[in-house]
Amino acid sequence: MSYHPQDQLLQAYAQGTLDDVSAFTVATHIEGCPKCQRAVALLEAQCGDALCTAEVESHDTMQAMFDQIVSLEQNDEPIRPQRQPSYIEVNGKSFRLPLSLSRFRDRVGEWKSYGGKVFSASIDISHDSRVSLMYIAENVSIPQHTHKGLESTLVLHGGFSDEDGHYEAGDFLLKDASVKHSPMTKQGEDCLCLTVLTEPMIFTQGVARVFNLFGKGMYP
Ligand SMILES: [Zn+2]
Repeated sequence: MSYHPQDQLLQAYAQGTLDDVSAFTVATHIEGCPKCQRAVALLEAQCGDALCTAEVESHDTMQAMFDQIVSLEQNDEPIRPQRQPSYIEVNGKSFRLPLSLSRFRDRVGEWKSYGGKVFSASIDISHDSRVSLMYIAENVSIPQHTHKGLESTLVLHGGFSDEDGHYEAGDFLLKDASVKHSPMTKQGEDCLCLTVLTEPMIFTQGVARVFNLFGKGMYP
């Protein structure tokens, strides 16, 4: 694993200021990344220290504070049992999902196949961005494309390459509209990814052929 969320992303994650979908993607990366686990633990400790040393002015009397605490709504939700990993099947293969994703197993839609080489299934967890599982079979090149918004990709199984490097399970990538890339898998290498798109893809190459396969401004 060599690609991690940027420091600012981890910082925002630790502070709880990240939007839900980004936080979910970062959490999924962290689940399998001891390095970022340590980094976040440190950042959280720093946030805690900052809170403790911050001066708080309080004019509440003990009684007022007590009244406020006892009037809080009771949480009668049962304690959540340990989440079990779940699996997903695509292209005749079964993949174990990370725990963070297993929670949303029932929100994963049907797989759509693009020429039997690329498969995508949307995960219904956000109104603002398109969250999908994407599977790329072995020996496939996806035409070069760019994005209007942000694309974050987390490799769950296998690996792929593009112009900038090679990515393997756990690697986290964030690309903005300035990046054009054409992901590809090698012979004997397939890839399952979690992708989050804020805007549809715009293809920049092989237009006619690609439109037949993918349609204009496709979401993976
Ligand atoms: Zn990491």
